[in-house]
Amino acid sequence: MSVLWRSGAGRLCAAARSAIPCIWRGNYFSSGNEPAEHNPVTPMLRHLMYKIKSTGPITVAEYMKEVLTNPAKGYYVYRDMLGEKGDFITSPEISQIFGELLGIWFVSEWMAAGKNTAFQLVELGPGRGSLMEDILRVFSQLGSVLKNCDISIHLVEVSQKLSETQALTLTEEKIPLERDAGSPVYMKGVTKSGIPISWYQDLQDVPKGYSFYLAHEFFDVLPVHKFQKTPQGWREVLVDIDPQVSDKLRFVLAPCATPAEAFIQHEETRDHVEVCPEAGVIIQELSQRIELTGGAALIADYGHDGTKTDTFRGFCGHKLHDVLLAPGTADLTADVDFSYLRRMAQGKVASLGPVTQQTFLRNMGIDVRLKILLDKSDEPSVRQQLLQGYTMLMNPEKMGERFHFFALLPHQRLHGGSRQLKSCQSKPSAAPVAGFGELAWR
Ligand code: SAH
Repeated sequence: MSVLWRSGAGRLCAAARSAIPCIWRGNYFSSGNEPAEHNPVTPMLRHLMYKIKSTGPITVAEYMKEVLTNPAKGYYVYRDMLGEKGDFITSPEISQIFGELLGIWFVSEWMAAGKNTAFQLVELGPGRGSLMEDILRVFSQLGSVLKNCDISIHLVEVSQKLSETQALTLTEEKIPLERDAGSPVYMKGVTKSGIPISWYQDLQDVPKGYSFYLAHEFFDVLPVHKFQKTPQGWREVLVDIDPQVSDKLRFVLAPCATPAEAFIQHEETRDHVEVCPEAGVIIQELSQRIELTGGAALIADYGHDGTKTDTFRGFCGHKLHDVLLAPGTADLTADVDFSYLRRMAQGKVASLGPVTQQTFLRNMGIDVRLKILLDKSDEPSVRQQLLQGYTMLMNPEKMGERFHFFALLPHQRLHGGSRQLKSCQSKPSAAPVAGFGELAWR
């Protein structure tokens, strides 16, 4: 594997990150019906079988939550699943340009909203910390613009293993767990560029205050309930023990209506739907915070606008994986329904998008950035990786059209006026939101 060089802290540099294999989680897979060639009895499978034997079949949401984030055995809790040696690859792991452009987006929104003297940058599900590292490098580069601004970083992460990796990436230190059991902060430190950084298990624990929020490939791992339309009405898909094959799980339909049905729209026309109440709760929290204190949220993921049906799938070792086999050894994911996120904002804030990753990155100036990096590099392997990374991020057949960007912003951001304006000042017209409209070069 050829990992690209990076120059010293604070200098924007190379762009591609690793040899680009592999599979990204936007790929599709039908769930559950593949032949069970290899179904090792994992500790998670034993745990789930015990649970189902004692209380009956469980919802797909409960299955997903247990498999991914159970504090003792969850897939996310003790492993690094990202990159070439892991199970899947994400855009920030493919190219540094991705994080650099997102860093510029936050600075541009901070400026458009009136350059507050302080802000928190909050990331949900930061993976290895690569995206935040690239964003912070841009902040350092733009030091003259941000010099009078007090920035703090807040990471929401359930994985012990990944939080250790994030700490090493961002602070270059091994950070011990906080001893104060009463504090919601479980780790804290200072980044390489001197910015205070804290870790939390839950968004609710992050201090309320003027903040920018980022969630990249986070919403797709939140648990979904699955429903099938039947002549008797909606029936929830449940996970049960297969009576025919030992140590095997199977999908069944609930015999009667279940509570999560309340999340399905009355006018729903699809015959299979996935709903993610946890995503709704997080969007409501973000919307309330942004309405109250300003800021913005940028959400990037693969998904649809309320049109897709069965998208629940698994990934293991860069291969698609039957979601019910060897639970705990593979990533589980479902496409994000952006129409649901928009509804859950409940009009408290304005939403923009979803726009495709290709559109967003092009509007953010990825072509110009690529050209600058190519012009700077004589090394053929570096140039090749830059171009491969660009293709992976932008090609509609790869990540360009599967992934989408979606933003939540205060209403006044789109309709002119900033929080700092006194009522006697005249209302300026709103600057366009970068990424969601075409870039105008002046
Ligand atoms: N954003 C990163 C990682 C995506 S993988 C990237 O794009 O590379 C999903 C991330 O969300 C991981 O860091 C995982 O540990 C974290 N995660 C999963 N469920 C979570 C939850 N319920 N709360 C907080 N973090 C969670």
